[in-house]
Amino acid sequence: MPDFYPQLPISTMPKAYLETYGCSANLADTEMMKGLLQRKGFELVRTPEQADISIVNTCAVKDATEKRMVQRIKTLSAKPLIVAGCLPEARRGLAERLAPNASVLGPDAIGSIGEMASSAISGRRIEDFSRQNKVLLPKVRANPTIDIIEISSGCLSSCTFCATKLARKDILSYRPAAIRQAVQLAVADGCKEIWLTSQDASAYGADIGTDIASLLESVCAVDGDFMVRLGMMNPLHFLKGKRLSELLETYRNAKVFKFLHLCVQSGSDTVLADMQRGYAVSDFKRIVAAFRAEMPEITVWTDIIVGFPTETYTDFAQTMELLEEVKPDMANVSKYSARPGTKASVMAQLPVDAKQERSRRLSELVGKISLEKNVQWKGWKGTVLVDEYDKRLGVWTGRNYAYKKVAMRGNFRHGQKVEAEIVNAGIAHLEGRLLAASN
Ligand code: SF4
Repeated sequence: MPDFYPQLPISTMPKAYLETYGCSANLADTEMMKGLLQRKGFELVRTPEQADISIVNTCAVKDATEKRMVQRIKTLSAKPLIVAGCLPEARRGLAERLAPNASVLGPDAIGSIGEMASSAISGRRIEDFSRQNKVLLPKVRANPTIDIIEISSGCLSSCTFCATKLARKDILSYRPAAIRQAVQLAVADGCKEIWLTSQDASAYGADIGTDIASLLESVCAVDGDFMVRLGMMNPLHFLKGKRLSELLETYRNAKVFKFLHLCVQSGSDTVLADMQRGYAVSDFKRIVAAFRAEMPEITVWTDIIVGFPTETYTDFAQTMELLEEVKPDMANVSKYSARPGTKASVMAQLPVDAKQERSRRLSELVGKISLEKNVQWKGWKGTVLVDEYDKRLGVWTGRNYAYKKVAMRGNFRHGQKVEAEIVNAGIAHLEGRLLAASN
């Protein structure tokens, strides 16, 4: 089993422990905070018991997540603590009430982690909610094959259910040249997968006079053997101009995983309007169809919120119909929860049991469709990039060009390319038989 924490000598260096919740943008933030702390002379440790200071990188997206965060903050506040991430920004004052001595770091202020940790250990409480550039910061990667690059923070929308907006605010895009340089450094470090992540990749560049298609093209122009995964997008930004055709053009590049994460959220135009999403169900269908026309085997992921306050049974049925029609390879189903400070939180809420029943039925349908889609890959032969040792499955897994997860028996290493044949399929992954392995 691989182990990627650097074997640091036993020292008098201050010891820091970090734990992370939420999306890949938060994962990237934690990797950078680790890099900055190491540069500041901190030793990274695995447990809060070993640590002089703990940093909890929080998520604010759901009620259930917040409840977990609250418990962790209370537990960890017995020792010097920094509460980072979206929660302290989206719920100002909450962290202070839970842990009055804890320092508080906004999601865009991670560049200050080194100073803040040193101050916190010496008992000085600091707050920092500044918006800083987050590209080209040192990092300690959780996975040596994958480099997660945040291309922007925030978005251009104001979805009525969204607490992330309260934390990440309006779009702040990072410079294409800096992102390109970050890719060059990652490839030089041996990374084979580049994840370009943000709250809404399709809004990238609107504040600096560029766009996601131009950025993707510029990233693919970097020399080296690597693949790029583009993060989640909002259909809204494909309605005007040539954004869709330009992105389709760039997706033809062999370095781009044929993977589209397009968040529809509901199959009802009435609910989409109440969510202030700014597009119609037909727009989502048209965009997916355009990608499938170009690359029929593209992997499509989407996000669905079930139980939004104004969702009637008919609206819910329309969401089920949309999934049966579009057949996404995977859909993240979230039960709506009222987030303080959002417009939807003051609407009349649906009964909990109605939300649970709809979520159960939707998840069941999603699982059935995912299996149906994966079974179509049986018999496929091709290259798989090994990128993870899956502890749950107890085997190595990798990704093919359509970002399909392929599990394989045998001994492999990170970043290795193998030839495999798909012999079986499950809901969340394919099973591959090894045909040939590169050295
Ligand atoms: S696009 Fe909407 S859901 Fe996504 S981060 Fe922005 S406000 Fe939230």
